[in-house]
Amino acid sequence: MQPVPHVAALDAYALAELETGTVSLAQNESLRAPSPNAIAAATQAAHDGALYPDPDWRALRTVISEVYGLDPDGVLCGAGSMELIAALARTYLAPGSQVLTTRYAYLFFRTAARMCGAEISIADEPGLTVDVALILAKVTPATRMVFVVNPGNPTGTVIPLDELRDLRRRLADDVLLIVDEAYGEFVDPDRPTDGAFDLVAEGKTVVLRTLSKAYGLAGLRVGWGAFPPEIACDVRKTLTPNNIAAASLAMAAAAVRDQPYMRETVRLTQASRDSFAKACRANGLAVPSSRANFILLPFASADAAGQADQALRAAGYSARGMGGYALPDCLRITIAAPEVMQRVAAHLGDHLPGAPAGGGA
Ligand SMILES: *Cc1c(COP(=O)(O)O)cnc(C)c1O
Repeated sequence: MQPVPHVAALDAYALAELETGTVSLAQNESLRAPSPNAIAAATQAAHDGALYPDPDWRALRTVISEVYGLDPDGVLCGAGSMELIAALARTYLAPGSQVLTTRYAYLFFRTAARMCGAEISIADEPGLTVDVALILAKVTPATRMVFVVNPGNPTGTVIPLDELRDLRRRLADDVLLIVDEAYGEFVDPDRPTDGAFDLVAEGKTVVLRTLSKAYGLAGLRVGWGAFPPEIACDVRKTLTPNNIAAASLAMAAAAVRDQPYMRETVRLTQASRDSFAKACRANGLAVPSSRANFILLPFASADAAGQADQALRAAGYSARGMGGYALPDCLRITIAAPEVMQRVAAHLGDHLPGAPAGGGA
C-alpha cells in the first residue's frame, strides 16, 4: 500500500527520549500531582465507566467559560491541544496550502501542517524571541495560517500582547492566526482572562490552552481552545466524536474549578525555576529568562550539551535535547520540585566544570 505522497514524505513525530528509571525533566509536566478534587472526580467517573462520555464536554466548557470569561459556544475541547492543532490543519489546509510559523515554535504544528500536504515557511526568532515584523515580512498572498506560541516552547520567552494585537491587525482577514498558550497560566495565574482571548471575538484568531501543564493532567489528555463561532463549527466536524474519556473530562472540570490549587502550582514552579536559573547562572550558563515551567540551557557547543545530557542521565535525570529545534547546543529542562532542581544544578556544576562558556546574564 502506498500512502498519499505527503504522508510518505513525513517523519514520525519525535517525542522525548526517556531513559527508564530516570526522573523525566523532558516533557514539561507539572511538578506535582493533580488537584485532590480532580482525583476524587475521577473515582466518581469510574463508576459510570460503562457509559460513553458527554460528547459536548458541557461541564468542562461551563467551568472554562466562567473562569476564562468566554462564550461556551466558542470553546472546543480536544484529547490534548495537539488534537485541536491537527483538527485546525485538517479543516483549513490542503496540499499546497501555505502556512507560516516561527523558528522555535512547537514542532507538532509543522507535523500537523505536513500531514495535510501544506508548505511551511519560517520567520526567524533573533535572540530566541518572536519578532512580529519578521513574521509580517514572510506573509504572502498565499499564506493561510500563522502559528505562534506564547510563551514560547522551548524558549520560554513572551510576545507582549500589544505586539500580538498588532500582528493580527496587519494580517489579512483570510489568514487564520493560531496562538498556542499552553503555558499561559504561568504568565499570571491570578488573571486567567489575560491571554489573547480578546482577539478571538474579532473572528480570525484561535487561542489554544491545555490541562497538561499548569493543571498537571498531561496523562489525561485534555486541551481546549477559544474559537470564533463559525470556525468552531467547522473544526468540530473534523474531531472524532467522544474524543475525551469520561474520567479525563471529570478531572479536567474539577481541576479548572480548583483555581487556588493551580495558582499554588504556578507559584511553586516559579520559585523553583528562578532559584534553578540562578544556580545555573552561577555555574556560568547564559540562561535566558523563562516565563514557563522549563528552562532552556545553552552550552558552549553541541558536544558540551550532549555531555551534560549524558551526565544527567547517568545521575537519573532525562533532559530534552534540542536538536529537533536546530538548537543542538541547548538542553531544555522541565522545572521539578526545588530539591530535585538543586541536585540537577549540582550535577551540572560538578560534571561539566569547563563546559559552560556563555556570556553570563
Ligand atoms: C505541551 C504543549 C502543548 C500541549 O499539548 P497537549 O496535547 O495539550 O498535551 C501544546 N503546545 C505546546 C507549545 C506545548 O508545549
